[in-house]
Amino acid sequence: MAEAEVPLLDPGDVLVRHLYMSVDPYMRGLMNPGGVAYASGFQVGEPLFGRVIGIVESSRNRDFSEGDHVFGMLNWADRSVAKGGESLRRVDPKLAPLSHYLGTLGFPGLTAYVGMMLIGKPKEGESVYVSAASGAVGQVAGQLARIAGARVVGSAGTDEKVRFITGECGLHDAFNYRTAPSILEALKLHCPDGIDVNFENVGGANFDAVLHHANEFARFAMCGMISQYNARKPATLVHINEIVSKRLHVQGFVVRDHSHLIDQFIEETADHIRAGRMTVAEDIVNGLENAPSAFVGMLKGDNLGKRVVKLAEA
Ligand code: NAP
Repeated sequence: MAEAEVPLLDPGDVLVRHLYMSVDPYMRGLMNPGGVAYASGFQVGEPLFGRVIGIVESSRNRDFSEGDHVFGMLNWADRSVAKGGESLRRVDPKLAPLSHYLGTLGFPGLTAYVGMMLIGKPKEGESVYVSAASGAVGQVAGQLARIAGARVVGSAGTDEKVRFITGECGLHDAFNYRTAPSILEALKLHCPDGIDVNFENVGGANFDAVLHHANEFARFAMCGMISQYNARKPATLVHINEIVSKRLHVQGFVVRDHSHLIDQFIEETADHIRAGRMTVAEDIVNGLENAPSAFVGMLKGDNLGKRVVKLAEA
């Protein structure tokens, strides 16, 4: 933790007081030397940065006024200056609680939409499987497939999460991958008709088991591989050849390539929430000083729903 002076604003700059900060799995990749394929990494000695919801405290930018609620890619801090207003977008506090713009109505929700609706394209009656199904992305992915009329099964790491998935999220079935005899056995039991759409959040043994249990021509939306981000040894995939024999469509994607869809996505999803078709679970940790443990804990599965850090009252 470090104290710093709030800098004077140059023309175009916006000073934002932070209200909520997001902790997300992609940040783990940015801590590796060189970052990831689509973004360079964090720098030692510089603050981390990520998705923030805040309120404009002062502005020298004609597009933003004092009191506006905004989303931006900003530092892990109480306040920060958005140079030239870059990355800022106004959010509507009347449409939904502000924290939702970091989860279901934000990039995790859009990630679920892109993977499930643009790649997975579930049809009525098809069998869909979502891993990490109670998390920020997973809860939206599963519910979108359920709304599309598919039979949706989720997995997660605690019985409480499993109850949330079949209860509030209304998925057809779910299992605890930590207590199941094996993921392969669990998929046989819970997805008796095989899998037509796999929304992959976990990778490793989960991905391998789904390959073996997938139906011919199944679609795989390759969203993330969280089981591998801290793994000392990469997982061995023994069923990888089934991509060929089953003619699977396996597509990776990164949400930033689809950010132009965010406004339309927010409108449609807010409608699902208002109409009671979609539930939202958040896991809120208080205080900037608790952000590092909130981040590490999320990678280990402490969170039920989208984990955000609350920094101040609106
Ligand atoms: P999240 O699901 O809210 O939180 C991460 C969850 O991952 C934990 O709660 C934990 O839940 C699960 N997990 C951790 N280690 C695991 C393991 N070894 N095996 C199985 N599950 C494990 O996080 P999120 O933000 O929604 O991210 C979910 C996935 O989407 C991640 O893989 C992330 O990288 C990916 N993602 C991709 C994009 C994209 O653009 N492609 C964008 C956002 C997120 P359990 O208790 O269930 O284990």
